[in-house]
Amino acid sequence: VTDFYPKVCNHGKLITFDHATSKVVCVGRNYQAHAEELNNPIPNEPLLFIKSTNTLVDLSSPVVIPQGQGECQHELEIALLIGEKVDSKTPVSIKSISAVGLALDLTLRELQSELKQKGHPWERAKNFDGACPVSEFIPIEQLTDWPNIEFSMTKNDKLVQSGHTRDMIFKFAELIQSIVACFTLYPGDIVLTGTPQGVAKLANKDQLCLNLADKLTVKTKVK
Ligand code: ZN
Repeated sequence: VTDFYPKVCNHGKLITFDHATSKVVCVGRNYQAHAEELNNPIPNEPLLFIKSTNTLVDLSSPVVIPQGQGECQHELEIALLIGEKVDSKTPVSIKSISAVGLALDLTLRELQSELKQKGHPWERAKNFDGACPVSEFIPIEQLTDWPNIEFSMTKNDKLVQSGHTRDMIFKFAELIQSIVACFTLYPGDIVLTGTPQGVAKLANKDQLCLNLADKLTVKTKVK
């Protein structure tokens, strides 16, 4: 097993986080316009699922997508790096978040639809190796307007996804509260906070440029 250590960029200096990631907790349908684009109902509590550490890869390396399994779609999401142990007894505060970055929750959409129809779990569609490319993280205190942040992604120079945290159905603190009611979060764990609308197919050679609050820009491509 190869441990994944998140990278934190502190004033231009890239530092390896002290703790390896033990899991990525994801939330589905956290932006109304995205739930609508997939014809999904709006949940009344966060819809949670887990990506295991085999999915974690560095976003700045070329993104490898599965071949021959139908569309692999990008879901651009704000990623939260957890800085301390948080369980159901911990008073919930966004102080548990140490740093913020971006991630792609890669999804084999056709396979996911098939699995959903059958009422099956959707790991085959979302938990394949490399299904969670993550950026470096920036310390939360460097985001001046936290927790109000904008993020976006262009694909081949065209804007494909953009979001703002004010449009989240469940905000960061509510998400963490709901997560730790079920799963303890450990330092190094990553929380993906849902995708805004605009999810679409990735193809080999696509050029991607991701931006978080004008504080972090990542250029990458699909292999
Ligand atoms: Zn997602």
